[in-house]
Amino acid sequence: MTVPEGETAPLIIPRSAHSLSSKDIDRDALKVLTMLQKEGHTAYLVGGGVRDLYLGKTPKDFDISTDAKPGQIRKLFRNSRTIGRRFRLVQVFFHGNKIVEVSTFRSRSEYDMEGEINVLPANNTFGSEADDAFRRDLTINSLFYDIHNETIIDYTGGVADLNNRIIRIVGDPDKRITRDPVRMLRAMRHASRIGFSIEEATWQAIIRHKDKLHFCPVSRIRDELLKDLRGGANSHWLQLLLDSGVFYVLFPLYQPVFTENGEAGKELLGRILEVIDRLQQNNQQIPEPFLLGLFLIPWSQKMFPEMNDKLKNGQLYALSRRIKDEVDTGLDHLNIKRATKEHIASLLARLQLFADNDQNGNWPAWLKKKSYFRENSQFYTIYREACGGGPAADLELPAPEKKPRSRSQRQTPRRNGQMPAYSRNDNKGGIFGLRKQK
Ligand code: ATP
Ligand code: MG
Repeated sequence: MTVPEGETAPLIIPRSAHSLSSKDIDRDALKVLTMLQKEGHTAYLVGGGVRDLYLGKTPKDFDISTDAKPGQIRKLFRNSRTIGRRFRLVQVFFHGNKIVEVSTFRSRSEYDMEGEINVLPANNTFGSEADDAFRRDLTINSLFYDIHNETIIDYTGGVADLNNRIIRIVGDPDKRITRDPVRMLRAMRHASRIGFSIEEATWQAIIRHKDKLHFCPVSRIRDELLKDLRGGANSHWLQLLLDSGVFYVLFPLYQPVFTENGEAGKELLGRILEVIDRLQQNNQQIPEPFLLGLFLIPWSQKMFPEMNDKLKNGQLYALSRRIKDEVDTGLDHLNIKRATKEHIASLLARLQLFADNDQNGNWPAWLKKKSYFRENSQFYTIYREACGGGPAADLELPAPEKKPRSRSQRQTPRRNGQMPAYSRNDNKGGIFGLRKQK
């Protein structure tokens, strides 16, 4: 371990003081770590893998950080490829489509507006292991685990925060959020997922900077949102978004719905999200149009009171057009596919049709023959459960669209200069792809 000049030494948590064991690490990730160390490199397990193992949870993936450069990593693992432009990252492939991602320690200058950016050349993307810890989003995500002596290396106070169940942005939250506003969403997602509380300075910075989410590219926001909705802790997440005001930045269409006599709508949304959580905890994958459609039920009911009427075919069609137009405007900033929006509108427009024809879980034969029956009845039963009715049917839906490759998307070209990324005209991407304010 190298401690750069002027850098405080990290806290080293010995094997006897934590319950994390190399045995819990995925075999292939372990192979990569062993190989890198055998070749004389420093290599650690990092990020969510360390966090989740520390908490006794099963990590979604195992990421590795090393001082080896991408070219050196590639040479060690024949079955690998490099992705990303400025932040080159190596993916090592294993049986069963498994990918272990290995990234070279990155410099802080890539992530922070001030400080080291003045002393490092603009194109220096690599850094020390300390830099790599400090460039990360949350303290609990910045821990390294060394398989060699089974220690945890903690530069940012992440272990104390894990013990005290605290979500804290690494460094100055104002700067770190300004640099990449998506970190606000990440802080709230992790807080709700693992039931931690958000530390005060981080929380106040989220409230102060919430509008900066407008500067982020829509694709990143949409990906983060879908991750949130699929995170399995939606009701806590909703509360955090509402309390911080981020909810209305992301969903301005809900402003008129929730601000005046909105309690019933908020409650309904909370209950819908609970049902979504329940289904997802049972490993049911909910496709995007379903997730967003369910999310928009309280909004649509307030905006289109005629939804509650018995409508004829033509009227249903007209209603679905009107909903689609409003969804178009209301979700414009999230860049949702046209087909998805059409789908959402038709699910919402037919909600009452299914409510009217629900005969204690039995359906009239004419309705069962409709091509839309299966989907719409499942959509309706989720709503019914949220309203206190019987449990939603198990989802038998087409396989959801492929998971967005959020990691590689983080590898978009980064900015070179010192200005906030979104202030540059000539760089569409910028760090984390921040975009120019409209
Ligand atoms: P999950 O369980 O959802 O995979 P994770 O923390 O591993 O959670 P990833 O999106 O896989 O999340 O990111 C891996 C690591 O990369 C994080 O733990 C964090 O250290 C770092 N990271 C991700 N996004 C950012 C960001 N916007 N700013 C700084 N660091 C980030
Ligand atoms: Mg991860």
